Amino acid sequence: MSIEDYRPTFAVEAVYDLTPESLRRNGIKAVLVDLDNTLIAWNNPDGTPELRAWLDEMTTADIPVVVVSNNKHARVKRAVEKFGVDFVSRAMKPFTKGIDQAIERYGFHREEVVMVGDQLMTDIRASHRAGIRSILVKPLVNSDAWNTKFNRARERRMLAKIEAKYGKLDYQKDI
Ligand SMILES: [Mg+2]
Repeated sequence: MSIEDYRPTFAVEAVYDLTPESLRRNGIKAVLVDLDNTLIAWNNPDGTPELRAWLDEMTTADIPVVVVSNNKHARVKRAVEKFGVDFVSRAMKPFTKGIDQAIERYGFHREEVVMVGDQLMTDIRASHRAGIRSILVKPLVNSDAWNTKFNRARERRMLAKIEAKYGKLDYQKDI
């Protein structure tokens, strides 16, 4: 294991900050996105006006967005169906199962796909294992379900190692 496996290609404040123009400029034609705390906050399952606006913007720009979540099918379906977003559930991040499934389903090219997520140990690790670029976002809310709290401690330790080597992670407004 090397810390580079966990170092995101980009870091932005929120997924809503990504614009079609900046994605295109970076050669990105499809966006895979984590669900919990990246696309929607666990305590606000209906999403926000920003989320709807961002999804509309991506649709208009012809940039497919696919949710890749470790959660089970019923839970992900319930969360995203009102937004009309396609998804892969039980993605097994930090392994590549879900990312591979999304890429194969749509015939994406790996160099043209990015995965957006709020966790180094799952989202970012899985992206790099799958050979795609990654974008780390700040979690939408800081309080988590109890099982995620354990992971947050591991996250903080990894982030400290990355920042010790590469300097403070700077969350941009766009990529
Ligand atoms: Mg998450």
